[in-house]
Amino acid sequence: MARIVPGMTELTRPYWEAAREGRLVVQRCVRCRRLWHPPLHRCPRCHATELDWAPVGGRGAVYTFTVVDHPTHVALQDQVPYVVALVELHEGPRVLANVRGCAPEEVRVGMPVQVAFEKVDEVITLPQFVPC
Ligand code: ZN
Repeated sequence: MARIVPGMTELTRPYWEAAREGRLVVQRCVRCRRLWHPPLHRCPRCHATELDWAPVGGRGAVYTFTVVDHPTHVALQDQVPYVVALVELHEGPRVLANVRGCAPEEVRVGMPVQVAFEKVDEVITLPQFVPC
């Protein structure tokens, strides 16, 4: 069974291209400088459509998480249990990803984590997080 990977759109393409190069980026408003994630077509604060992509350091903390014990798709049956976490980056935006590199029962809210890039194929590299 093939790995399930996120779909790429024109809106999200810069995020995935940066991840493939081992860089984590988030959208930034050119007008008010706000950062956010996931990508949007306009700034959630001032509604400007002049947007660019800002590199972020990839460090943050687990904001909330869940441990998935029951696969929601047959392709995930060999991966349970796994952790799906909302990671709050030091720069502010929150990124949904898996936490790897520790047992699921070791994950805690507030746990410091850093990005770790997991290459799936030639197109998709997933930004994941590991304890730091
Ligand atoms: Zn703005």
